[in-house]
Amino acid sequence: MENVENVKTAERRNLQSLGAVARSVRYASTSAAPTSPKSSRSNSRRWLSIVFVGATAAGAGAYIRSQNTSSATLNPETFTKYSLVSREPVSATSSLFTLRPRKPSDNNYDVYEEAWQTGVWSVMFKQPQLQIGRDYTPLPTTAATSLSIDDENEGCLRFFIRKDPFGEVSRYLHNIDVGADVELRGPKIECAIPKETEDILFIAGGTGIAPALQAAYSLLNRKHTERQPKIHILWANRLKDDCAGGHSDSLKPQPRRGWFSGWFGSSKSQDTTSENVVDVVRKEDSSIIVRELEALKSQYPGQVTVDYYLDEENTFIRKEDIRGAIAPASTNDSRKSKSKLILVSGPEGFISYMAGPKVWAQGQELQGPLKGVIKELDLKDWGVWKL
Ligand SMILES: Cc1cc2nc3c(=O)[nH]c(=O)nc-3n(C[C@H](O)[C@H](O)[C@H](O)COP(=O)(O)OP(=O)(O)OC[C@H]3O[C@@H](n4cnc5c(N)ncnc54)[C@H](O)[C@@H]3O)c2cc1C
Repeated sequence: MENVENVKTAERRNLQSLGAVARSVRYASTSAAPTSPKSSRSNSRRWLSIVFVGATAAGAGAYIRSQNTSSATLNPETFTKYSLVSREPVSATSSLFTLRPRKPSDNNYDVYEEAWQTGVWSVMFKQPQLQIGRDYTPLPTTAATSLSIDDENEGCLRFFIRKDPFGEVSRYLHNIDVGADVELRGPKIECAIPKETEDILFIAGGTGIAPALQAAYSLLNRKHTERQPKIHILWANRLKDDCAGGHSDSLKPQPRRGWFSGWFGSSKSQDTTSENVVDVVRKEDSSIIVRELEALKSQYPGQVTVDYYLDEENTFIRKEDIRGAIAPASTNDSRKSKSKLILVSGPEGFISYMAGPKVWAQGQELQGPLKGVIKELDLKDWGVWKL
């Protein structure tokens, strides 16, 4: 069993080092899930992904080595030089990175903007000594952002990156000096959020919160929707430090019960959620990511809710929590089924547990069949996408 896991991990790492990580934009599904977004933009992206993977296979292992870094604008074909402006610790194991393009380019704004409007996206960072790459998720700019207007105008990007003590690229990024060059390639669209989406349930583990911030930003900034879209985020972390200052919106005071209530059973209302989530007090040193989430809540009142779960407090995302989180959207039958989307993001084991593993086939990472907790819930009219 352990060997199989090792082979899988090694295979994934090799494929990533070859740069063969472009994915087509499709939706894994429950029985009545959304189909692929039909916009011409996503179709052309899918086509580009296929061409890109083909080219990558032909180029074999020399792919990254052969890349020029001539372009001043972020693009999916060649690596573009950025410099590390700052690295602020978020917790003992993660930091917020700010990067600025080495050469000014007016076109970066358009490249970023198109990606933000499409949905969830990532960029690949190159580790130059080992010639390998890993994907990371740019954070949107919110009211709580530490980017100044100048930084924004200069095309800065921010990332929330966890340092894996044995990981090659995340360790490298945590060790380089501020001011050092970092080479990026992208954007790569991880999930195009269909235009008709009105409700998102985002299930995030650890740094999987970065795409949740992106999804919220992309969804809530849409001007043309008839109804105000909503996003509910369930965020699981190992340690309090990772989400210090977080307040769970489903946390309600427990109803006072008489001494006899245990004999007659408790009510099966949606209050089940409130028994399991946590408040991570210590507001004085709220983590940067929690401040970002709070800023989104104030910017879009009533449209964003967040619940926190902590391994160290034995609160885990359970089936009841998912059911409770989708209940308000599920009761409104008049809405189109394509309007509801569950996104799952986090470490491989977390995604597998929630929605089944993603699979590798012909040099591409695919969604794989829906399994795990979400499959068991049999949520008929919710689409599911594993990030
Ligand atoms: C689309 C996308 C977006 C992402 N966004 C973010 C983000 O915003 N922030 C973030 O922190 N992460 C993000 N990630 C994860 C990130 O890309 C890296 O996977 C992560 O940082 C680890 O990379 P690494 O090079 O440091 O570790 P690796 O060197 O890849 O190692 C990872 C782990 O695997 C173990 N390992 C390595 N080789 C083997 C082997 N042969 N057998 C068994 N175990 C092995 C290592 O010991 C280590 O614990 C994202 C991933 C994807 C796919």
